[in-house]
Parts: sequence; structure tokens; C-alpha cells
Amino acid sequence: MINHLITQKNWQSQLSETVNSIDELFALLGLDLADHAIYIPDQFRLRVPRAFVNKMKIGDINDPLLKQVLPDIKESLTVTGFVSDPLGEAGQNPIDGLLHKYESRVLLTLTGACAIHCRYCFRQHFDYQSNLPTSQNQALIVDYIRDHPDINETILSGGDPLSLSNRRLFAWLDALEALPQLTTIRLHTRLPIVIPDRLDAPLLERLNQSRCQIVMVVHCNHPNEIDDATTLALRRAQAAGITLLNQAVLLKGINDNINIQSNLSKQLFKSGVMPYYLHLLDKVAGAAHFDIDERRAVDLYWQLLAKLPGYLVPKLVKELPNRPFKVPIDLYKDQ
Ligand code: SF4
Repeated sequence: MINHLITQKNWQSQLSETVNSIDELFALLGLDLADHAIYIPDQFRLRVPRAFVNKMKIGDINDPLLKQVLPDIKESLTVTGFVSDPLGEAGQNPIDGLLHKYESRVLLTLTGACAIHCRYCFRQHFDYQSNLPTSQNQALIVDYIRDHPDINETILSGGDPLSLSNRRLFAWLDALEALPQLTTIRLHTRLPIVIPDRLDAPLLERLNQSRCQIVMVVHCNHPNEIDDATTLALRRAQAAGITLLNQAVLLKGINDNINIQSNLSKQLFKSGVMPYYLHLLDKVAGAAHFDIDERRAVDLYWQLLAKLPGYLVPKLVKELPNRPFKVPIDLYKDQ
């Protein structure tokens, strides 16, 4: 891995100085624009942190990290079955900023912002602008949870909740921790992988002091996403008492390979993170070229079961609209 950029800035600077132009990205990677068909989408444009670019291989247009972020003309194709809201979340949104999909958990979309734009993201068409919690409806959200005493876990999501400042994030933690019914606060975030410096000392200290159990579900799809800085940051989080899990998406041409999946699990474990979910792609418009036939996914999964100890094998699942849980893939179908 060639360290072709120096990233010694604080995480806020790294977040505001992401690479947003294909020209710059190609220049950093030593790629020639003239050699490749370039696609510039109107929305959900290129955005990639420099720490993530650092992990890409110079001169390789097929780098698995680059392929996750580089817009592709195939995104503009209309493919049957691939829609803008594949999980039907629009109907599960009783208050702006709150999704109630699961019985004992609610999900808060605290921000539409992400450090990175992943081309397969199922929320890439989500209307964040009209669906963000405001300071006024933080009280409404807290009241909603209080009125549903079965809710004992809150999932902070987005966008990426760790793209909020510590001050805003801590205000949410304060409000949620004041609800005695809550036992667990979960954060779904890709930031520790793409800007490891985001796990700064004040954040880890605050999470360590929470009266709730803190679970951080990171999102890492390929072992090349984990360099020494990433491992160090994750191990600091582990030392702060945070339960660390990973969810990955099975992506054609990126990680649909037994050795890559096996190395991913091992690298995560080395970094203190347990593999949790391996998702089949959510069928979102613009992402069909990443999709893998379910039969092939099961074949790969059988290989993974044979290769790794059980505790390193994530659950193979898919999400379906209006199902109150992630659906396990049938491993025995047609066997
Ligand atoms: S970080 Fe997560 S929410 Fe943001 S674009 Fe990537 S997959 Fe989507």
C-alpha cells in the first residue's frame, strides 16, 4: 500500500477537505482521465476522504476501494426491481429524523452527511433535507421513545452520525441517556474506517462514561480498508469499553471472493471488531451493477463457513421492505 498522501490533520479538517472531483482523484492515484470513461452524476456526487484514498493502489482503476466510490455510467441505467426506496422506509417515519422499523429499537437519522459517498448506498435517494431532526423535534423524538416503553435501544444513523460535531452528538447522548428505559445506544458509522482520527479522545471518553451500553457498528467491505491507523483507532475504541461489530455489503467485483472475505474477518478481529452482518445488496436504483445472484452468495458463504471459525463468520442477510428484522438467507435452498 503506497502512502501517497499525508493525513495528519484533525478529523474536522479531513471531513471538510474530502476529494470531490474526479480530476483530483485521478491525479492523486496516477490515473489518466483520457484512458477511462468518466461519469459525473448530478446528485450523490463523488466524495472521498483523503485517508481512504491513501489506502488505494496507485495506477489501478480496478482498485476495490476506488470502485466503491467512483461514479459509473451504469448508475444511470434503469434496471427492473431497483428502486429509489428499496426498504420502504418512507412509510416508517412517524417523526422527522426517526424511523421505527423494529419492535424494540428506533433508528435516528441524525444527519444526511457522510464523509464518503458509497455508490451502492441504499439511502442515496433518501430525502434527508425534509427528514432531519431539528432542535425543536429532539423533544418530540424523546417523547416518542418515552411513549413506547418497549423501545430499549436507539440506533444513531444517518448519513453518518459521527459526522456530527462532538458537541451535537453529546447533546443527543445526554437526551437519550436521560430515558431510563434505554439500555443500549448503537452507532452505525463508516467514519472510523474512512477517517480513523474521528475516534478522538473526547468522543471515546464520553462513550466510555455513558450509563448505556455502547455498540458501534462500523462498515468495512474489504481488508484493504484496514490499515495500521484504522486498527489503532478501533483498538482504542475497544479499550474504551465499546462493543465493536462490522457490517459489510457483498459487492460484485469488490469483495465477492473467499480470500477477500476471509481476510476481512481476520483483519477486523485483529482490530477488535467482530464480523456481524454480510448484507446482500439492497436493490437501490443505480446500484444494480454491484448485485450478486443469491445462489452465488450462498456458494461463497458455504466456503466461508468451511474456512473460518464460526465466530469470524458474519450472518448472511438481506433486508426486505416491511419485515421487522433482517432476513437470514436460506443456506439450504437447492442444495
Ligand atoms: S457511509 Fe453509509 S450511509 Fe454514507 S454513503 Fe456510505 S453506505 Fe451510505
